[in-house]
Amino acid sequence: MQKAAKTQAVVVSIHDVSPVTWDRTREILRDLESCGVDAVSLLVIPDHHGKGTVSACEGFGEWLAGRVSRGDEAVQHGYFHRREARAADGLAKRVVTESYTAGEGEFFDLDYDEAREKLRRGRAELAACGVRAEGFIAPAWLLGARAEEAVKAEGFDYTTRIAVVREFKSGRDFSSRSLVWSVRAGWRRVCSLAWNHTLAVAVGGAPLCRIGIHPPDWDHGAIRRQILSLTRGMLAGRRAMTYQQWLTLQRNDP
Ligand SMILES: [Zn+2]
Repeated sequence: MQKAAKTQAVVVSIHDVSPVTWDRTREILRDLESCGVDAVSLLVIPDHHGKGTVSACEGFGEWLAGRVSRGDEAVQHGYFHRREARAADGLAKRVVTESYTAGEGEFFDLDYDEAREKLRRGRAELAACGVRAEGFIAPAWLLGARAEEAVKAEGFDYTTRIAVVREFKSGRDFSSRSLVWSVRAGWRRVCSLAWNHTLAVAVGGAPLCRIGIHPPDWDHGAIRRQILSLTRGMLAGRRAMTYQQWLTLQRNDP
């Protein structure tokens, strides 16, 4: 008997979900729902830039738990998100942490103990909201080797980087390049539109497509329209699901 074709999936994630970006996140979710996306991975920052924890914001925890109970997933996303500059930073490190990520590589070069401490604090914040994250994704996808060991030791099931989904238990890496937009300057937006158009065609036949949305993407009409139009196109042949749901499918049908 012929084996049934594997389900093709699209994981849409919203990065930097926190009380700071809450209104914008809800707007993005409304637009995604109108396209037919019924499951989203929400990358939650426990204390966004130190402006206040998720558990201290009235209504946020209930909202998050409500989203998870309806099929979304909460993913732990750094603790503060911002990397504290260090006196010992050399030039090469500064180029990576300041230019590439605009200073947001919080888990890029943490040592093991610092990382575990932040992971635990973050987990406690999410628990106070009534949710548990199975995944941890580092800010700007920059997860250093020692910090990654800490993520494993804290019992997370998976992490992702820009071009891979890594499941810790099985040790499997699933290659999949995420679509992601850079909106900090006009020229970046022009490049992003062209690049993501090309990339969406290139990943057309892949088992897993990933769309990574950041709240500032919604400030720019052309970016917002492209994200929604590519999402609609992908949903013609794919099921929207969270990372967690997608990994469960891979476990059941390796
Ligand atoms: Zn982020």
